[in-house]
Amino acid sequence: MKNTAHFAFWPRRVPRQLVYPKVPLFELLETSARRYPDIPAIIYYGARISYSRLADEARRTAAVLFGLGVKTGDRVALYLQNTPHFASGFYGILRANAVVVPINPMLTEREVLQLLTDSGTVAAITTADLCQRLVNVRDQCALDHILVGDYKDYLPDNPELPVPESMQADIEAGNDTIRPWRRSLENTNASPPAQETGCDDMALLPYTSGSTGVPKGCVHTHRTVISNTLSSAVWHNMVAGNVMLATLPLFHVTGLVHSMLAPVYAGATMVMLTRWDRQAALAAIEKYGCTHWTNITTMVIDILNAPDISARDLSSLMIVGGGGAPLPEAVGKKLMELTGLQYVEGYGMTETISQTHFNPPDRPKLQCIGIPDFGVDARIIDLDTAEQLGTGEQGELVINGPEIMEGYWKKPEENEKNFISIEDKWFLRTGDICSMDEEGYFYIVDRSKRMINAAGYKVWPAEVEGVLYQHPAVSEVCVVGVPHQVRVETVKAIVVPTAEYRGRISEQDIIDWASQQMAAYRYPRVVEFVKELPKSGTGKIQWRQLQQKEREKAGGR
Ligand code: AMP
Repeated sequence: MKNTAHFAFWPRRVPRQLVYPKVPLFELLETSARRYPDIPAIIYYGARISYSRLADEARRTAAVLFGLGVKTGDRVALYLQNTPHFASGFYGILRANAVVVPINPMLTEREVLQLLTDSGTVAAITTADLCQRLVNVRDQCALDHILVGDYKDYLPDNPELPVPESMQADIEAGNDTIRPWRRSLENTNASPPAQETGCDDMALLPYTSGSTGVPKGCVHTHRTVISNTLSSAVWHNMVAGNVMLATLPLFHVTGLVHSMLAPVYAGATMVMLTRWDRQAALAAIEKYGCTHWTNITTMVIDILNAPDISARDLSSLMIVGGGGAPLPEAVGKKLMELTGLQYVEGYGMTETISQTHFNPPDRPKLQCIGIPDFGVDARIIDLDTAEQLGTGEQGELVINGPEIMEGYWKKPEENEKNFISIEDKWFLRTGDICSMDEEGYFYIVDRSKRMINAAGYKVWPAEVEGVLYQHPAVSEVCVVGVPHQVRVETVKAIVVPTAEYRGRISEQDIIDWASQQMAAYRYPRVVEFVKELPKSGTGKIQWRQLQQKEREKAGGR
C-alpha cells in the first residue's frame, strides 16, 4: 500500500520539489555579501557585523587554516557558544574545504575528547573561556592547533559577557598551538587560494549518540546541508531584511540551519545571544524588530512567563516555531493570545541535518510535527514486519530525502542497523513512533529508541549508564526519562548499590559525582536506590518496564 495521502494536500500550497543550487555552502555567504554588503549579518549585543565583514573574516579564517597546514577534508572543531566567531569560523572552515565538527560547549573534557578522537580533529576554533579544556586533552588526540577568540573581539567595552582571565596571557602571547583569533586573522591574506569544493564533499560532522551509548558522527555534505537551508528559508518565508532572533545553540543542527544558515542564505540579520536570557530576548525583539524566532519549547515557556509579557511589544514577530520537542498545547494557546501567532513546529534529527517535517505557517496544527519537507518520502512502517502502514496507524517513521546524511562516520555497522531498503530506496529509521492523519500531517506518539528528551537536548541512557558504572558504589543501573512539565523529561538513574557501599552512600552523592563527569543536561537529576532491577529471561534489564512505571507515576501514558 502506498502512503501518498499528503500529496493530495500540499502541492496546492508549495512546490513539491525545490531545485537546489549546486554550489558549496560558503557560496551562499559570498552571494549575500555581494548583494547586501552593508546589511548586518549579525547583531551581537549591539555590535553590527556586516555581510562584507563576515565574508572577509571567513576568508581570512580559511587562509589561517591553510597556513596551519589544514588540508581538504581535515576535520576542524567549532567549540563555541553563540558568538560571531561561530559564523566566521563555520564558513571559513568550509572555504578551506575542511569539515566542520560542531561541539557542544557544555560537554566535559572527557566528552569533548571522545568527539575529538573519533573525528580525528586536527584544529579547533574556540573562545578563551573554553580553551583550557582543549589544551588539557590535546596530547591525547590529533588536535594540533587551537585558534582562540575573545568576546572582546566584537565587544571591546561590554563588561557583562564572560571575558575570561585565566588563559588570557597564554593566548595573547600565542605559541605553536594556541593562537589568538583576532591577531591571526589580521596578519593573514584576505584572499586564500581557490579550492575546488564539490557539492558532495563532506561539509559537516555533527555528533549524536544512540542505543549503544557511543557518540556517532553524521556525515553531511554541502548538498545535504544546502537542501535543508533552502527549505528552511522557503518555509519560513525568509527574505533579506528579515531579522532572526538567534537564541538556539548554533552547535546543534536545528539552531545552525534555522538561526544561521537560512538567514545568511536569505540576506537576513541574526540577532545573536550567547546565553538564553528572556529579558535580553524580549529587548532584542523590541529593539531590532525581530521577524523570526526559532527556539526550543522551554524558551517559549520562559518568555511567556515573564511578569511584564503582556506589556511587551511582540508585534514584529511573523514566525515563531521550533522543533526538537513538542510544545505543550496550553503554551501554544497562550502564544496565540499574546501574538496572534500559531506556533510552527517542525521535526528532524542530526542525521537529517535539521527538518524533514514542517508545519505550513498558513495552516499549522498544534502538537503535530507537520507535513514532509520538499522531496521527502516519509513513511510509517510496522515495527516488527516493516510493512507500510496507512492513515491513523502507529509505527516507526522512516525517511528518504535530500537532507539525509551519507551515513555514520566510520561506523558501517550502525549504517546497517539504521537504514532500511524499501522498494529499492534507502530509508533512515528514525526510532520515533508516529501516525499520520488524512491530510498528511504527522504526529509523534512515542519512541522505539532509548532516548530522553531533556528540554530539546537528547540524552542517551546507555551513555549515561556507561559513566555511572564507573562509580564504585554502582552495581547495576538503569537510566530512564521522568516526565517533566517544563523540560519535557528529566534524567533519572535507578541504581542497585554495591554491598560494600549500601547504607554508606546517598543518592545525592551519586548526583554530585555524576555532575562532575557529564554535561549539565546529561547527568541524572534524580537517583533512586533499589534492591534489584527487573530482568528478562536472558538477564537483560527491562528498561521499558521501568520507563513505563515512571510515566504512570507522573500520570502519563
Ligand atoms: P537530535 O538528533 O538531537 O536532533 O534529536 C532528534 C530527535 O528529537 C528525534 O528523533 C525525535 O525523537 C526528537 N524530536 C525532534 N523534533 C521533535 C518534535 N517536534 N517533537 C518531539 N520530538 C522531536
